[in-house]
Amino acid sequence: MFDKVLIANRGEIALRIHRACKEMGLSTVAVHSTADSNAMHVRLADESVCIGPPGASESYLKSAAIMTAAEITHAGAIHPGYGFLSENARFVEIVEAHGLNFIGPRAEHIRLMGDKIAAKKAMIEVGVPVVPGSDGGVPDEATAKKVAAEMGYPVLVKAASGGGGRGMKVARSEEEMGKAFNTARSEAKAAFGDDEVYIEKYLEKPRHIEIQVIADSHGNVVHLGERDCSLQRRHQKVFEEAPSPAITQAERDTIGKTVVDAVKKLGYLGVGTIEFLYENGEFYFIEMNTRLQVEHPVTEMITRIDLVKEQIRIAQGEKLSFTQGDVPFIGHAIECRINAEHPETFAPSPGLIKEFHAPGGLGVRLDSAAYAGYMIPPYYDSLIGKLIVHGVTREECMLRLKRALGEMVVSGVETTLPLHQRLVDAEGVNSGNYDIHWLERFLADQES
Ligand code: ADP
Repeated sequence: MFDKVLIANRGEIALRIHRACKEMGLSTVAVHSTADSNAMHVRLADESVCIGPPGASESYLKSAAIMTAAEITHAGAIHPGYGFLSENARFVEIVEAHGLNFIGPRAEHIRLMGDKIAAKKAMIEVGVPVVPGSDGGVPDEATAKKVAAEMGYPVLVKAASGGGGRGMKVARSEEEMGKAFNTARSEAKAAFGDDEVYIEKYLEKPRHIEIQVIADSHGNVVHLGERDCSLQRRHQKVFEEAPSPAITQAERDTIGKTVVDAVKKLGYLGVGTIEFLYENGEFYFIEMNTRLQVEHPVTEMITRIDLVKEQIRIAQGEKLSFTQGDVPFIGHAIECRINAEHPETFAPSPGLIKEFHAPGGLGVRLDSAAYAGYMIPPYYDSLIGKLIVHGVTREECMLRLKRALGEMVVSGVETTLPLHQRLVDAEGVNSGNYDIHWLERFLADQES
C-alpha cells in the first residue's frame, strides 16, 4: 500500500491526477522542468522536484531523473498520465525494479500494444474483429504493391510503432503507392525510430468509436461504454462525445462483451481503451491504448466513475467496486479540446495568458491547469484545457456546450475556442451525422 504518489506529467492531466489523489487522502509529488516552475500542478502538489531543463527528453521523458525524484521524496507509486512515459514498458520495469508501484498496466501489455502489428494479431486471437490488412509488416515497395493489389485500393500505410496520427499515408492507386510507402516509412523512422510499416484497407466513411475498459488484479473486467471521437484533424481528436450518436444499445452490448472477453483472455490490468473504426454496422479494431486517455472525462460524466481513482485502487490491489450491471449510463457528455493554437491555421500560440475566465454552472467541467498570468511554454503540446459538459439528453448537452463556450474567456494567446464555436453551430455536429473526414471537409469549406 502506498500513501504518496509521484505524478510523472505536467499540465491539465497532472492536475487531474493530483485532484484524485487528494480526494483519496494521498499526498502528491509534482515533477517539473525549469520551464514549468510556476505551473499549477507544481503549486498545488504537496511537494515538487525540478527534474531538468525544458526539453522533454531532458525532463519528463528522463526516467533516471524521475526515479531520483521518487526516491528522495519517498513516493510509493508513480502515475504517468498520458503521453511522455505512459506507454514505455521499460519505464514500468524500472519503476517496479525499484520496489515502487506503477499506476497503470503491466509492462508486457504495454509492449504488446505498442507494436501495432503484434497488437492486431493478439486481438484476432482473442476474437476481436480487425481492419482487413497485411499479414504483419511490409518490408518493401514491391510487396506493398502486391498486398494492396490483392486487397484493393484505397489502402493506408501505417507505422507499426505509430501514435498521434504520424507515419500514416493513404494510397488510392498503384501510382500513389511508392510515395505513400516511402513517406510513411521515413516519417515513422523520424518520429519513432522504427521504420516498420503495415497496410490496412482504407475505410472511406468510418466513425472512430472506442471502448473504455477497466480490469482489476482479481480477474474482474468491466466496460464503460464507448466514446465517439470521429471529429478529427490530421487523425487527431478535437471533440469527443459519449454515448456515440451512431450506435444502438444492442451494438453497445455486443461490442462491449467482445471487448470484455478479449481483455480477460489477455490478462490485462488497469484502464485501457480499445479503438475501433465503425462503418456500416461493423466494428474494426485499430489499436489499444494502454493508458488513461485525454478524453476519459466524457466517460466519467456519463458513468459517474472516477477513472483515476479506480486506477489507484487497482494499483493498490483492490477489487472493482462495481460489476457490469452496476454501471449507470446517464445522459450525454461532450468534450472540446482547447488548444493554444490559431483557430484557422492551427499554428501554435504559446505565450502569456492575460485573462482567463472559466465557464460554470450545472453540468460544466473544465479540466485545465491554465490561469490568468500563466506563461504557456513553447516546448510541449498545445492543449490548455478540456471543456466537458453533461446533459440529460444530447440536445441539452449541445445547448449547454454552446452556452459554456460563450462564457469562456482566454486572452493573450490564440486558442481553438472560435473553432469549437463554429463546430457547435454546424449542422453535421448538431445532427451527430459525421464521420472521421467530416472535420477536414468542414475546414476546407470554410477556407474556400
Ligand atoms: P495513431 O496511433 O497514430 O493515433 P490510429 O491507428 O489510432 O493511429 O488511427 C488514428 C486515426 O487515423 C483513426 O482514428 C482514423 O481517423 C484514422 N485511421 C486509422 N486507420 C484507418 C483506416 N484503416 N481507414 C481509415 N482511417 C483510418
